[in-house]
Amino acid sequence: MTVQRVLATKGHDILTIQPHRTLAEAAGVLGEKRIGALLVTGAQGELLGILSERDLVRAIGKEGAAALAHAVSKHMTAKVVTTTPAAKLDDVMVLMTQGRFRHVPVMNNGKLAGLISIGDVVKHRVADIEADAKALRDYIAMA
Ligand code: AMP
Repeated sequence: MTVQRVLATKGHDILTIQPHRTLAEAAGVLGEKRIGALLVTGAQGELLGILSERDLVRAIGKEGAAALAHAVSKHMTAKVVTTTPAAKLDDVMVLMTQGRFRHVPVMNNGKLAGLISIGDVVKHRVADIEADAKALRDYIAMA
């Protein structure tokens, strides 16, 4: 299973936010869209960072409600680990496990092409395992 195939079913939509927006605005979007992370992009759509619900919680835990007025750029992770459409979903899972994060943006020829979340990985892994189990049951039933 490749990243490209996952995006084909899930879609290429990406929710982004500009770096000068506030954490309060970011929290509003995360809550409204029921997602866990926003990609931070510049004027040309270039990837500048990622802000997840963990960053929000960390900022508020450390600085209190005042953090909600801070710029997204202050609390985002600027060094973002990305993948490509041709990558295998298993490799994305390894990136998530090693990096201890649940979101991996997809870059195609230097442009943002989608986002894989841990939910997407789990959903496809479960589907694969169920298909393998069915094949095994069918094989045993035939024997
Ligand atoms: P998450 O588990 O995705 O909510 O993120 C946990 C932490 O890792 C947060 O500080 C995020 O900003 C950061 N993070 C999330 N995704 C990535 C990524 N692909 N590359 C680097 N850092 C990330």
